[in-house]
Amino acid sequence: MYYLSTRNSAVRVLSSQAIATGISEDGGLFVPEKIPELTLEEIGSLGKMSYRERAFLVLSKFLTDFSEDEIYYCVDGAYSSGSFDTENIMELVRLGEQSYMLELWHGPTCAFKDMALQILPYLLTSSVKKLGVDKKVVILVATSGDTGKAALEGFKDVPGTSIMVFYPAEGVSSMQKLQMTTQDGENVFVCAIEGNFDDAQTGVKKIFVDRSVGEILSENGMMFSSANSINWGRLVPQIIYYVSSYAELVKRGDISLGERINICVPTGNFGNILAAYYAKRMGVPVNKLICASNSNNVLTDFINTGVYDRNRQFYTTISPSMDILISSNLERLIYILSGMNDEYVKELYASLSKTGRFEVSDEIKSLLKAEFDCGFCSDWETMMAIRSVYEKHSYTMDTHTAVAQRVYEDYLKRTGDRTKTVIASTASPYKFSSSVLKALGKNVEGLDEFGLTCELESACGMPVPKALSELRSKSVRFSGSIQKEDMEKAVLGFLGINK
Ligand SMILES: *Cc1c(COP(=O)(O)O)cnc(C)c1O
Repeated sequence: MYYLSTRNSAVRVLSSQAIATGISEDGGLFVPEKIPELTLEEIGSLGKMSYRERAFLVLSKFLTDFSEDEIYYCVDGAYSSGSFDTENIMELVRLGEQSYMLELWHGPTCAFKDMALQILPYLLTSSVKKLGVDKKVVILVATSGDTGKAALEGFKDVPGTSIMVFYPAEGVSSMQKLQMTTQDGENVFVCAIEGNFDDAQTGVKKIFVDRSVGEILSENGMMFSSANSINWGRLVPQIIYYVSSYAELVKRGDISLGERINICVPTGNFGNILAAYYAKRMGVPVNKLICASNSNNVLTDFINTGVYDRNRQFYTTISPSMDILISSNLERLIYILSGMNDEYVKELYASLSKTGRFEVSDEIKSLLKAEFDCGFCSDWETMMAIRSVYEKHSYTMDTHTAVAQRVYEDYLKRTGDRTKTVIASTASPYKFSSSVLKALGKNVEGLDEFGLTCELESACGMPVPKALSELRSKSVRFSGSIQKEDMEKAVLGFLGINK
C-alpha cells in the first residue's frame, strides 16, 4: 500500500518513507491511498486478544512494507516494557447507563500522547533502517507541555536516536516543567527558550529547513526527523485503541457485535478524532464522531458551517492542550472527503495561509454533518462537569476529558440519542491538579505541585501515578534558558558538531 501527499497525489511513498520523513516536501500530509478493512468477525475476535495482539493486527493492515517481525519488534518494545501502569495499556470505565471513559493516560507521562509516542521511536528507527539509511535520527521538538515529555520518554536511550526538546520558559505548568527538566536518558537534551511557544516552534522549523544545517548533520552521519502529530507514525497507533474499545465492549456483552457506538473526543490538532474516523472507515460500527472543543471553537464552527476561520481571538484555557487554532490533521480529513482531490486541498490551504480562512463545498459540508457532531464549552462549564461527575459517579476527570464529557451531555440533551458512547479520556487528573481541585471546591492556596497532588489524592482516592510522585526525588538536569537566536548553536553543541 502507498501513501499519498494531500497536496500532490502523484507523490506516492511506502509507509516507512512516510514515517521517516514525517511530512511531504510540498507541505502536504501523508494519507494511505486506501483504508484497509476489518470484517465484523475479525473485530469480534480481537476481544480475546491482548492489546499487543490487537496492535499487531491493526498496524499490519497499514504498514504493509513492514515484515511481521518488524511490527512485532515495534509493538513489543512499546507496549510490554512495563512503562504503562496497567497490563491492558488502556482502560474502559463505565460511567452511568450508556457512556464509557476510555482512559488513555496509563503511560509514563500520564497523557494520551504516550499511546503513540511510546511506539513512534520503534516505527521511526525501523523505517530508517528499512530505507537503508545508516544515520542517527535527531528528533527536534517544540512543545507547549505534553508532547515534549511524552516524546522524551519515548525516545530516551533508544539506540540510533537523539532527542532535543525546546519549551517556552514561561509557558508551561510547573509540573510539566519538572517532568522535562528532570528527564533521564543519555541521548536527551531539554532547553527553555526566552519567549513563547511560537518562538520555540518557529526556531525549530527554521533549523529544520536550513539546508546548511542539514548538510552539516549529514556529513556527521545524522538526520533530522519530527515527532509531532502530523507524522503518520503518530496517527496510526491511535487507531488501535478505538478498534480495541469496540472489541472490549462486545466481549463484556455491553453491546452486540455490529451494534453502533458513538465516540466523543476532546480535540486540538484533530489527530485523536481522525484516528477514530479511520477506525470507523476500517469497519468499526460507529454512529457519530463527536468533536469537543474548548473556547477555541474553530472546529465547532467548521463542522456546523463548513467555514474554517482562524481569524479570531485566541483563548488561554484550563484545557491548554486544546488551545489551538490550526488543527493540522483536518487536512487529511478534507483530502479523504473530497475524494482525494489534491488540487482542491492545495487551493484551500493556500487560502488558509493567505487569508486565514477557507470554505468547503456543499458536498463536503453534508459529508461532515453525516459523520460528525460537535460542540464546545467554557472553562466554567468544564469545571462544572468535573464536579458533577465526581458527585454523581465518584469519578475524577482531568480538564480535557471534562470538555468532552460536557459536550457529550449537551449532545444527549439535544438529540436524546441512546447509543452507547465512548469518551476519550486524554489525561490523568493529576496532570492538572490545581484546576481539578478548584472545580471540586477545594482550597489550593499555598500548595506546590506535590501539595496539590496529595490534596487531590485525598479527594479522589485514586493513587498519585508513580511517574509524577517520583519527580519529587529527582534532581533537575536541565536548568537555565537560552535566547531564541541561540537555538541552532545549542543543537550543534549538543550533537558535538563544530560548525
Ligand atoms: C494533545 C491533547 C489533546 C488534543 O488531541 P489532538 O490529537 O491534538 O486533537 C487533548 N487532550 C490532551 C490531554 C492532550 O494532551
